[in-house]
Amino acid sequence: MPGKRWTQPERESLIRQVKQGKHLPQIRIRARSQAAVNQHRQRLREAGLLGQDSKRSLRLWTMREIRSLRDYTNAYRLGATGLVRAGLLTGRSKDSISQQMRRQGLGDPRRREASRATHRLDVEEKAALAEFLRTEGSKLASAEVADKFRISPKTVTAYRRRMKLQLSWQEARNSERYRQLAEELRQKFIRRTRARWKKWRVERRRTLQKLQWRMKRRTANGKMRRCIRCGESWLELKEFFPVTKRRRRGIVTYTMSRSCRACRAQQQKP
Ligand SMILES: [Zn+2]
Repeated sequence: MPGKRWTQPERESLIRQVKQGKHLPQIRIRARSQAAVNQHRQRLREAGLLGQDSKRSLRLWTMREIRSLRDYTNAYRLGATGLVRAGLLTGRSKDSISQQMRRQGLGDPRRREASRATHRLDVEEKAALAEFLRTEGSKLASAEVADKFRISPKTVTAYRRRMKLQLSWQEARNSERYRQLAEELRQKFIRRTRARWKKWRVERRRTLQKLQWRMKRRTANGKMRRCIRCGESWLELKEFFPVTKRRRRGIVTYTMSRSCRACRAQQQKP
């Protein structure tokens, strides 16, 4: 649905604000909604008019990346900093990762709350928040506004009280519904992730069994080793039992795990 044509001064203002490093909720163009600003910003980006910013933001997250991000954060409980440090999701900055985590509702909710509590708005952000609450955000749940501005819902509520823009009880109830909905989505996501890991574990064992079968066919009878956890016998090879290498005073020793890789996989994942 194309709106009114963007004028040159509007366009220039948008470019200037993006280059100042402002995020969508902080960008203000008179009589333009956030959606319209977003759409036009995307167009400018594609036209290469936003300089440095364009490259970084244009690279959309692939489903595969999002899936990895979900798995990493759930399985290893890593935050954005941890992920970058671990060298996972290469090519994504810490900011980009934490932004995506927020979008996907990932990460430790307590830690997220804590980081919000410490996020202080600067003068411009304060003004943007006030403006947002007066206009587009007037009927939005505090939690939703809080998400946009990366602050706590409490702060939003305090602003509303001060500005005499409190939500009616009906709107507040919607706000509560929003919170519940978010929680439901989170639970659903957790259930789905668990199911995926379970499937993965089963597949992992099956893959190892197939591999062993193929190897046995090719070579003569190799030495077998019994896993102390599942009792299954596997070829005594690093393909089936993890091997750790240790170096002490120049002497290298190899230790083979007593539990098989299929069981190891089981231990590692939630
Ligand atoms: Zn085992």
